[in-house]
Amino acid sequence: MEIITTVAEMKARVAAWKAEGLTIGLTPTMGALHEGHMSLMEAARSACDRVVTSVFVNPLQFGPDEDYDNYPRDLERDAGIAESKGVDVVFHPNVEEMYPENYNTYVVMETLTDTLCGASRPGHFRGVCTVVNKLFNIVQPDKAFFGQKDAQQLAVIRRMVRDLNMNVQVVGCPIVREEDGLAKSSRNTYLSAEERTAALVLSRAVAEGQRLMEAGERSAATVLDAMKQLIEAEPLARIDYVEMVSWDGIKPV
Ligand code: AMP
Repeated sequence: MEIITTVAEMKARVAAWKAEGLTIGLTPTMGALHEGHMSLMEAARSACDRVVTSVFVNPLQFGPDEDYDNYPRDLERDAGIAESKGVDVVFHPNVEEMYPENYNTYVVMETLTDTLCGASRPGHFRGVCTVVNKLFNIVQPDKAFFGQKDAQQLAVIRRMVRDLNMNVQVVGCPIVREEDGLAKSSRNTYLSAEERTAALVLSRAVAEGQRLMEAGERSAATVLDAMKQLIEAEPLARIDYVEMVSWDGIKPV
């Protein structure tokens, strides 16, 4: 496995693969890899001839009060994990390589990014769309793999690819969870033991919503109320949003 840090070298590697007629799978990440990321690498490995995992903590998608400076970074560990999953190249550019001086072009999506996470993280999806667009141009993947954990991100990227006629197939992969239900996340390490226990209220609420619907409940408001009540009963939890939306347009149903 190779670690490539420059755009020029990554593009040269991609050109050589394309000349051989090989297909390319891309799994974009911010590093601090865990089993969620590994599942994307496995999906890419089994679907494509060559697999590129990007590890880039993208400053553009962090708000001024977010955790950009403290986000966990450990390239050696990440490279070991990627290698164990059969990844061919870890693409690890630095910030100047991706956004050189005088960088001035951004990809901005309307409406779809104003709700849910987008409402409380202004600029977040502008950063995501811009970096994913750049990664697609650099790596030119046939398929790109994203987790359903970031459901709005997946919907936004699918829409961007469709709107801009990009030549890549976006593959959504299931959420990988801890045994007790918590979705795996690089940010789970920020939680104290008490918060880690409290966080389980999220997967419990989702399971409760699912249970109600499977039992025949058809009022979104009733399901959402039950989920909110469950979360509000946990003193450490503060609700940002609980919504039931269509997959495509992210509109309330
Ligand atoms: P991140 O490094 O957090 O930006 O995530 C990189 C990719 O991994 C995104 O497509 C995420 O949706 C995906 N991902 C992160 N955590 C999980 C998980 N627990 N299960 C499945 N995919 C995940």
